[in-house]
Amino acid sequence: MSLIVQKFGGSSVANPERVFNVAGIVTDTYKAGHSVIVVVSAQGDTTDELIEKAAEINPNPSKREMDMLLATGEQISISLLAMAIEKLGYPVVSLTGWQAGMQTDSHSGNARIKRIDTERLSVELDKRNIVIVAGFQGINRFDDITTLGRGGSDTSAVALAAACHADLCEIYTDVDGVYTADPRIVPNAKKLDDISFDEMLELASLGANVLHNRSVEMAKKYNVNLCVRSSLTRAPGTVVKEENTVEKMLVRGVTRDNDVARIALTDIEDTPGKAFRIFSLLAKNNINVDLIIQSIGRENVKDISFTVSRGNLALALEKIQENKDSIGYGDLTYNDNISKVSIVGAGMVTNPGVAAQMFEALYDAHINIHMIATSEIKVSVLIDEENAEKAVRVIHDKFIPA
Ligand code: ADP
Ligand code: ASP
Ligand code: MG
Repeated sequence: MSLIVQKFGGSSVANPERVFNVAGIVTDTYKAGHSVIVVVSAQGDTTDELIEKAAEINPNPSKREMDMLLATGEQISISLLAMAIEKLGYPVVSLTGWQAGMQTDSHSGNARIKRIDTERLSVELDKRNIVIVAGFQGINRFDDITTLGRGGSDTSAVALAAACHADLCEIYTDVDGVYTADPRIVPNAKKLDDISFDEMLELASLGANVLHNRSVEMAKKYNVNLCVRSSLTRAPGTVVKEENTVEKMLVRGVTRDNDVARIALTDIEDTPGKAFRIFSLLAKNNINVDLIIQSIGRENVKDISFTVSRGNLALALEKIQENKDSIGYGDLTYNDNISKVSIVGAGMVTNPGVAAQMFEALYDAHINIHMIATSEIKVSVLIDEENAEKAVRVIHDKFIPA
């Protein structure tokens, strides 16, 4: 008998009608003779609402209590979906992350799954129960509840598929697959029939939130059969796999990420060890740095600017200010009204001029570029946030024929 893991995002379970729609998909799969593990996210905007609720009480709560609160959203969904399936007359059991054996590290708010103890899952599947598991949550070695970071239910699903050797992992969402850009920004974006793990990983890491980037990382590592499809249309969707076979498009996708802030330090002494001092200080405080630019030295001084996530901005500024004397710089400025717009495609590596075409599209739209970064399969630019959606559209028009 084959085992299928099906994951449903927040919009797919937002109200009673949607919950029954999901119950229909799940029970159809079960009726067809498969064993089914279902992973669900919190309903609709529940997670955002919980974050607001916390802020009303304490603007700076501990991460442990935040995880305790946020995990409740998924617990509502699993029980409601189980009740819907009960009503349809099928055997079902809902499990929290902890009951499902989802063990994580202790990085509250952004925990990584370390292993899944599948014993309880196996017992329930052997009983022919439909097993519903709360996404986004796990438990650390101190028995405290952890969460996996925003969008983390995708990773719960892929991890369960890998641990239970599932034949297929289906991510059901509110779009019918992975598109060449967010269809909310680019209405004529195209649905991709398939995409490689590497390209999908870049897209997800660069802002295409249709899949949590760690879910793609994990699917690649454990070779999980993964697809993204709609819970509303039931159309075939997009297959994410080792290599994409069909049409070789130069650019597979255009993304935007607003979660960026730029910090600039001027007049740093132009001697060895300065970059090391700044970035080791940030690393020590667990602050990830993305794009970095260092100017050419002039009169023995240079400037360094770099980007961090907006959530890390305040901490980064604080630490740099605290260490002003040991770093030695003139001014410290920042800008958090910026976005990173990127193009991704495995074909780029062998095609010179792709970056130039992207810059031309931005030039034609009078959009100024602050920073640039490239790798074998992507080009990213940092621009003003107010231009980001327009940038995505003009770049998409340039590379992906209508
Ligand atoms: P879920 O709640 O099901 O996890 P998400 O909101 O996390 O859903 O992800 C689905 C959303 O991702 C879509 O509604 C779409 O706006 C957005 N998205 C961003 N980039 C892409 C892309 N390249 N292809 C498809 N959807 C995308
Ligand atoms: N409910 C969580 C969130 O909103 C997890 C998820 O949706 O995947 O981020
Ligand atoms: Mg999601």
